[in-house]
Amino acid sequence: MCSIQQNIEQVTTQIRNTEHKCGREPNSVQLLAVSKTKPNEAISAALEAGQKAFGENYVQEGVEKVRYFSEHYSDADIEWHFIGPIQSNKTRPVAENFDWVHSIDRKKVAQRLNDQRPESMPPLQVLIQVNTSGEVSKSGTDESEVFALAELISSLPNLTLRGLMSIPANVSDYASQLRAFQQLAELKEKLTEKYDGLDTLSMGMSGDMEAAVEAGSTMVRIGTAIFGARDYGTRD
Ligand SMILES: *Cc1c(COP(=O)(O)O)cnc(C)c1O
Repeated sequence: MCSIQQNIEQVTTQIRNTEHKCGREPNSVQLLAVSKTKPNEAISAALEAGQKAFGENYVQEGVEKVRYFSEHYSDADIEWHFIGPIQSNKTRPVAENFDWVHSIDRKKVAQRLNDQRPESMPPLQVLIQVNTSGEVSKSGTDESEVFALAELISSLPNLTLRGLMSIPANVSDYASQLRAFQQLAELKEKLTEKYDGLDTLSMGMSGDMEAAVEAGSTMVRIGTAIFGARDYGTRD
């Protein structure tokens, strides 16, 4: 068996074990395979292991992959998630090609994705990316802006708000990881009092997956543990 398939089995086992250990429902955490910078062959190998949901960070690379797989694996039923930062002048290809967007952090981007979503496609499933306190990353909206953004998104017919996403600071101690994830989970609880259908907390990556599951993640975004280290080459 190829190592990508073994890695998917291992990561899946780890998710199931962590769900069990934390008293979570079995299969309540979905695995999103983050394939950014990886070739189509790596995605094909993951598909053969039964993986259906893939995350991409870069618009052009992601769109090329979506087109390639819709042409060559048209019955594979892949779900494509855009998880990278979005410039407002690059919203159209995202709206026209992806099923999910995890990284909405401002009204302008939400509005444009709505306006550019083709009528022939189902609504785009979206998450608000939140910059929980203490994060070094520049992306994500402030907690104080989340409700205003949710209000706008819930009024847009071509977007369906499903929940929240965050990328906490990369720290190795478990207690700090857990605190950052719990902060996002609490915010989602508050939002759930006001909006229906919020079933998704996208949090946890290769290095902090277990803390994310303990805090209530429903979707972990795993790249390195599945596909190996990334080589960014000449990319910035
Ligand atoms: C790259 C990336 C991941 C995957 O990170 P790994 O540490 O390789 O698992 C997850 N989420 C986002 C937003 C990413 O950019």
